[in-house]
Amino acid sequence: MRAQRASKPLTVRAAAKINLHLGVGRVREDGFHPLDTVYQAISLHDDLTLSETPEGDSLTVLGSPYVDLRDVPTDASNIALKALAEVSCGVGHDVAISKQIPVAGGMAGGSADAAAALLAHDRLHDLRQPDEVLLSQAARLGSDVPFSLVGGTARGRGRGEVVEPVEDHGGWWWVVVPAAVGLSTPDVYRHFDRLHPDAPETPASAEPLLAALATAEPVRLARVLHNDLQEPAIDLRPELGTLIERGEAEGALRGMVSGSGPTCVFLCDSHEGSMAVFAGLSATYDVVLPALGPVAGAHVVVS
Ligand code: ATP
Repeated sequence: MRAQRASKPLTVRAAAKINLHLGVGRVREDGFHPLDTVYQAISLHDDLTLSETPEGDSLTVLGSPYVDLRDVPTDASNIALKALAEVSCGVGHDVAISKQIPVAGGMAGGSADAAAALLAHDRLHDLRQPDEVLLSQAARLGSDVPFSLVGGTARGRGRGEVVEPVEDHGGWWWVVVPAAVGLSTPDVYRHFDRLHPDAPETPASAEPLLAALATAEPVRLARVLHNDLQEPAIDLRPELGTLIERGEAEGALRGMVSGSGPTCVFLCDSHEGSMAVFAGLSATYDVVLPALGPVAGAHVVVS
């Protein structure tokens, strides 16, 4: 018989991110790329349920039908278990992840799970650590993890790990098209290096994007969306270029690759506009998801 659980399970929700601006500089000696990026959390999320157990750590992962779970490890290499290993002192945990965020999709699904694990651990054990402590734990796990805690719309610099919320007066309508097969983020960066060996040391500035966000006008935002990883991602997956053209022909103000791809996102002018793009793309693409941004960072939904 299974031993009785020591505490009531708690569920934390963490959102997918898109990059409204992703300026990438020349690779540094330590292998990292300097970034100037603006993240937005959108209404596509993973839920992570955590409970304490007297047995060792265990993990189960379920997902929406379009989420390819074959690449999600269920052993200690899962980033949610890595996060718990960093912070828990000897206590065993059961982790159950329910994924909506495409795997290896350029939407930071693993980072969302890591952020959810850190927050769930903090709340399950009633530690109530200050934000700075959680943010520094998050930065040790990966450069997108701090943003997954913060959510909303935020600028990331350095390797992306220095995150600062920015003024965003908009409520933005997106249509998201995940790909059936993911892309490896390191592969896309390597391809960027091949295509741009002379990339400037200082990445393209996010300032024009920040000015557009403050206006809350989708047409203004559409003009300044910027992703330096779009070219290498499309070079590796030419069908992404076709998808972007198609979404724009269906009425999107602008289509772009999300982060390192291969998920593509389409900015629309209104709810009605996003429904038209959704319907148009659904005629050809199996998985098309309407989404809103910005949404909150990792937060408890059931306790
Ligand atoms: P990013 O945009 O932050 O570069 P991504 O969204 O492209 O990341 P993820 O979904 O985070 O990619 O997954 C990248 C790899 O991380 C997966 O291929 C998988 O092997 C591994 N991984 C480890 N833990 C997880 C997790 N909890 N969820 C998804 N992938 C995980």
